[in-house]
Amino acid sequence: MSYRFDTLAIHAGQPDDDGTGAVSFPIYQTSTFRQIEPGLNKGYCYSRTDHPTRHALEENLAALEGARYGVAFASGMAAIHGVLSILSAGDHIVSTRDLYGGAWRIFTKFFSKFGIDFTFVDTTDHANVIQAIRPTTKLLWLETPSNPLLKITDVAACCAIARRAGVRTVVDNTFATPLLQHPLALGADIVLHSTTKYINGHSDVLGGVVITNDEALYNDLKFFQNAIGAVPGPQDCFLILRGTKTLGLRVQRHCDNAETLAAWLREQQGIARVIFPGFADHEGHAIARRQMERFGAVISFELAANLDETKNFTRHLKLWTLAESLGSVKSLFCHPATMTHASVEPDVRRSVGIGDSLIRLSVGLEDVRDLIDDLKQALDATVVAQRVFA
Ligand SMILES: *Cc1c(COP(=O)(O)O)cnc(C)c1O
Repeated sequence: MSYRFDTLAIHAGQPDDDGTGAVSFPIYQTSTFRQIEPGLNKGYCYSRTDHPTRHALEENLAALEGARYGVAFASGMAAIHGVLSILSAGDHIVSTRDLYGGAWRIFTKFFSKFGIDFTFVDTTDHANVIQAIRPTTKLLWLETPSNPLLKITDVAACCAIARRAGVRTVVDNTFATPLLQHPLALGADIVLHSTTKYINGHSDVLGGVVITNDEALYNDLKFFQNAIGAVPGPQDCFLILRGTKTLGLRVQRHCDNAETLAAWLREQQGIARVIFPGFADHEGHAIARRQMERFGAVISFELAANLDETKNFTRHLKLWTLAESLGSVKSLFCHPATMTHASVEPDVRRSVGIGDSLIRLSVGLEDVRDLIDDLKQALDATVVAQRVFA
């Protein structure tokens, strides 16, 4: 019998405990396991190699992506490291240019030291992907919707191009969640999540996961998970498993709130541009409509303001929390130019469209009317201030 998303979220990987009947899957707080005799154990020997609570999480997350295998890591970055570990010196990656800052950093500052080459292209035009692939290309790296500009890449089209060239495709599905976008069904070989975000959803744990249907790839990933050792602890696994139980509910409400808020923002004075893939006139809307169930809950917008005025606006927000990260029950906002993308040179940053007045919202689960009221009073204060200074 095959279960649907919300059922899998609660049950997959988590049988009732045989020994005690415990209904909640236990946190096995142990680093090692007693062996029956040399060479014989009950399936576990050492917690870096495999661990019951982690195993439950891996099965659960694989099920949510409709896949066979999941490999959990201590953070999204550790998961990215795990994927890149399958490469060797001389290999080449074609990556989307509009990339999570930490991924950009580990590609260009860490793996490039070991002889892995990267080409960054705008994957929203898949002609760029065709052009960038070389004989040594091993991976195509996609992120959609992208951060913070929410550009949409056509996953199926890019996967088809990669497949014809014998290149595997990795999709960082963190922004979309397993509920809204199914990269494996669109032809990807590997799906990756920072479980820190929507999957856990409560801003209280870091984690990452790599998911695939390819057994050989899974064995390689398991090998590197154990060899590198960046594994999540049992309590973290438990918290993420608790998070997934409400993932379906949460993501639907996140999307409801985001759609209401995006439409409202668009009508306000003092805002130059609102970026949301749910808008019919968003560049990638038609593709998003095709490959996503809904449009996610991240919205970016530009104030009609300079840097000082933008900072002034952020100081007026009371309910919204100024913080990096996204996907929390709590509404968060960030100022990419000085936060997530501060390490990018100002002219490069502006040339890709991340200006000084850009704000990224991660719409949470509070009452959307309260979220709107808070933005309204901050906008009023800032628009009024602009008029006074104009
Ligand atoms: C946050 C994030 C990561 C990194 O995850 P951590 O859990 O912070 O290490 C990778 N990709 C995307 C798209 C992210 O948002």
